[in-house]
Amino acid sequence: MKTLSWNNPWLQLPDCFHQSVQPVPLDNPYFAHCNPYAAQLLGLPVEQLTTETALRCFNGNGLLPGTSPIASVYAGHQFGIFTSPLGDGRAILLGEVQRENGIRYEIQLKGAGITPYSRTLDGRCPLGSAIREYLGSEALAGLGIPSTRSLCLLAGGTEIRREHISTAAILVRMARSHIRFGHFEYFHHRGDFDNVKILAGFVIEQLFPELLNEPAAQRPMRLLETIVERSARLLAGWQSAGFTHGVINTDNMTVYGDTLDFGPFGFMEAYDPEFLPNPGDDLNRYQFDQQPEIGRWNCLALAEAMSSLLPGRTIPAKLLRLYRQNYSRHFLLRMRQKLGLAAEHPDDAGLVDGLLETLRNGGIDYSVFFRRLAEFDEPGKNRELFALTKEPAVLTGWLNSYRDRLILEKTSGQERRNLMNQVNPCYVLRGHLLNKAINCAEQGDLREFHRLFTLVQKPFEEQQDMAFYSLPQTEELLPV
Ligand code: AMP
Ligand code: MG
Repeated sequence: MKTLSWNNPWLQLPDCFHQSVQPVPLDNPYFAHCNPYAAQLLGLPVEQLTTETALRCFNGNGLLPGTSPIASVYAGHQFGIFTSPLGDGRAILLGEVQRENGIRYEIQLKGAGITPYSRTLDGRCPLGSAIREYLGSEALAGLGIPSTRSLCLLAGGTEIRREHISTAAILVRMARSHIRFGHFEYFHHRGDFDNVKILAGFVIEQLFPELLNEPAAQRPMRLLETIVERSARLLAGWQSAGFTHGVINTDNMTVYGDTLDFGPFGFMEAYDPEFLPNPGDDLNRYQFDQQPEIGRWNCLALAEAMSSLLPGRTIPAKLLRLYRQNYSRHFLLRMRQKLGLAAEHPDDAGLVDGLLETLRNGGIDYSVFFRRLAEFDEPGKNRELFALTKEPAVLTGWLNSYRDRLILEKTSGQERRNLMNQVNPCYVLRGHLLNKAINCAEQGDLREFHRLFTLVQKPFEEQQDMAFYSLPQTEELLPV
């Protein structure tokens, strides 16, 4: 930890953006996990992460020089309804770490006690929720989808009351930025346009300094376009992975375009456009196939929140087209990769639509399908594809189109297989695996949690004796 260089750039912002807070330590803390891959991003040798000094720092017992804990205020559209103020009710920003290569990461403690924005809640995070976020964010990162990262997880002897008594945890998460769409919304909806402007300048300076080369009058529009493009790319990543976030309120979207705040998320098993992992979402607002348009709706809410900075204070129509264009482009790019198509062909979007319809019709497991498709037309292998579907005739029809399309490719079968197995995961964070890991952890056994971490970090590499973890819950194969 001594090699890390800390500071807190949020302190440059006026006082109305944040309040100073002190983390409330857990009793008898210990590391439930340390993530060597995230440590590597910080340039931190893992031996320094697993030390008593690091444990004390992240538990709030002994803050390091340069850290200055704060909680920030924001607002947000929650399930479509504007709510203000919200804020970091259970997240405390310690500061940021700057690497010698100039890359910076903010470090937040999630669950380190109450802040001025906790309302009546306790500022704590149950171990089960912390493990959900820890594994969810690392699973997305493993798939190459932008996400906040989990550096380490602390548990200890502190108990909290939920439906039942639960162990409290502190999730140490890192991100290039924790600035949410809701930070802009908070100031805009109070009519505080000066602070909207200050925030836009801060975001440009911190995250997108290349925009400083643009004429000053055009920067806010360019910033908005950048955020819209990155959000569309994020949503395309989710859709191609069969990931449903569950609560994409505007306060859960970052201006950097990372996945943030993992709650009732889910990775799809049998392909189902209506997949809804959040049982509290009565109106199905955030179900899988609604996500791309919700992403666009959220971008509109952000555009409104930044409209005081735009020429004529109006949101140009091209901004909304920009979202859809970027979304379609990135989605098709990812789906082509999943299908092993190196070339581009005008009918590819139709081929993808046909595939999704085929998967839905047949109730086909989304991730197993792509792994098996890599073996398509290899001796004896098509049988394994057909074993996945309830509608073999529909699958035959689609596979014929796929076979025809492959003729247009220059790559060999072996090359295609290799490419496909580098983008189609063998291991996804299936709900039943995650629930089992959480149940075991709540009983004090962290082994399943650690095993899932290892698998989802390297989701494309098939591991020996781990077939159980690659299959849907319904497959009758018991763990060894
Ligand atoms: P979320 O649903 O996790 O995105 O949280 C919505 C709002 O509630 C945010 O302002 C959170 O900081 C706050 N919040 C959620 N859980 C807690 C908690 N246990 N203590 C304090 N604030 C919380
Ligand atoms: Mg949130």
